[in-house]
Amino acid sequence: MPHYDTLIIGSGSAGGILAARLSEDESHRVLLLEAGPDYTSAESLPDDLRYGFGTPSGIFSVTHDWGYNATSTPAAPPIAIPRGRVIGGSSTVNATIFLRGIPEDFAHWVALGNDRWSWEAVLPYYRKIESDQDFHDEFHGSDGPIPVGRYGPEEWPEDQRAWYAACLAAGYPESPDMNRPGTTGVGPYPLNSRSRVRYSTALAYLLPARGRPNLTIRGNALVQRICFDGVRATGVEAVIDGGLEQISAGRVILCAGAIASPQLLMLSGVGPADHLHSLDIPVLLDRPGVGETLRDHPTAGLLWRVRSDFPANNSAHFHQVGLRYTASGSEFFNDMIVYFGVRPAEQTLFVRPTINLTLSAGRLRLTSTDVSVQPSLNYDYYSHPFDRQRQREAIRLCIALLDYPDFEKIVRAPLQHPGDALEDDDALDRWILRHADTGHHSSSTCKMGRESDPLAVVDQSGKVYGTEGLWVVDASILPETVRANINATVLMLAEKIADWLT
Ligand SMILES: Cc1cc2nc3c(=O)[nH]c(=O)nc-3n(C[C@H](O)[C@H](O)[C@H](O)COP(=O)(O)OP(=O)(O)OC[C@H]3O[C@@H](n4cnc5c(N)ncnc54)[C@H](O)[C@@H]3O)c2cc1C
Repeated sequence: MPHYDTLIIGSGSAGGILAARLSEDESHRVLLLEAGPDYTSAESLPDDLRYGFGTPSGIFSVTHDWGYNATSTPAAPPIAIPRGRVIGGSSTVNATIFLRGIPEDFAHWVALGNDRWSWEAVLPYYRKIESDQDFHDEFHGSDGPIPVGRYGPEEWPEDQRAWYAACLAAGYPESPDMNRPGTTGVGPYPLNSRSRVRYSTALAYLLPARGRPNLTIRGNALVQRICFDGVRATGVEAVIDGGLEQISAGRVILCAGAIASPQLLMLSGVGPADHLHSLDIPVLLDRPGVGETLRDHPTAGLLWRVRSDFPANNSAHFHQVGLRYTASGSEFFNDMIVYFGVRPAEQTLFVRPTINLTLSAGRLRLTSTDVSVQPSLNYDYYSHPFDRQRQREAIRLCIALLDYPDFEKIVRAPLQHPGDALEDDDALDRWILRHADTGHHSSSTCKMGRESDPLAVVDQSGKVYGTEGLWVVDASILPETVRANINATVLMLAEKIADWLT
């Protein structure tokens, strides 16, 4: 049997970085297993993976997706939860908004018992991952693998210019550098795409590492479970190119993401004992937090039909200008973000007011012992009244912003809009619950925290409590979400933990 020092499950945002960093030591043999296909060069990437936008399928890859469905609220039809199933994982299919968490997020992480994750401790790793094209100071990195840039006002399409002007006219401040601590208001998103190419971990981290003899990357490798000797992880069982293999390793790092990592832990006997018993899975370790505290950034989106004479720009990124603000009565700075843009193929204008720090949380549970059957996902969005209150305010605010005169020559008619329900809180709540949707930022299903916290699954280095030789490093270990799109934070987290594991 082949033997590796480190076996990594999943080559997404986190797994790609760990594989690249740990294999920098030539004497350390690393195996990276990825369920989706491997593309070994930039040229071989299909267009929907190569470009973050401006492809016929729009922003999401339909060809390399896990196809998950979820319950968003009891009143809404099932929603799709896209996740990349390909080398680079979700970093290969995402929208490339490269916003960081804010210092207040990390103060909260520390308060939850994670004192090694203060803002001062994470800033060097946010800098390490990036090469910012526009800002060069103590907050930004200049020689990291991921290029980060912004569209300037002279490049913005007409709809983004109108949005920017409407936000300024409503009194929101300008925010030219959204990754600077303390900033709020409207400004250009930092994006990790250049010349339309999306800089995933497959491109930015794995491609330069591929020639190393001590790094083995295997695509089409679906891990079924982690193998243990007592409580020590010794390897995995995986179906690779159709054949079942058992592979041993000195240590196992689970990087399968916020949905598949808790799924694999439970399939391997680590999780809530009563739930595992109900599926006849032998319990190795009772960890009630596995699959709990499922976080996301929920939205209830608005849609308008665009005028037929409005020029479609097929090569512009949908998201160029963003708005962040703090909801009325909220103690959480920048707890709201609004995505805005025109989808030329559909001739629609979307406005997605989104809560970046919710008080509601959901849950993930197995429905089968077969890894290819998705777990049940219940996000339970807006179950907390303050989340509904903030969403109501956001919807009213966005509709008011669309009254700005510059939109007259862009917008034709509403397509998804609360109409009369706007006037009544209960009616608007019902509309929100029917239209609740994902912000694509699932996290915290194996969260980091004190061992005494019954819902904590891993310690501050990602090591699974109660086991030996097993780590989880990906979006699932965020102790709490951050007030930003989470990819940059997952990359930062992987870089930081890689430093401890080398
Ligand atoms: C459509 C979409 C748009 C998004 N837009 C943005 C954005 O603009 N900005 C932002 O910051 N964030 C965005 N995100 C979120 C962000 O990309 C993810 O949160 C982040 O990539 C998660 O990283 P991860 O390492 O936890 O998981 P992933 O990157 O999802 O990696 C998990 C990997 O594990 C593999 N895997 C899973 N199960 C198995 C198994 N059993 N065996 C082997 N391999 C397995 C998967 O195929 C995948 O490659 C978006 C996400 C999506 C889906």
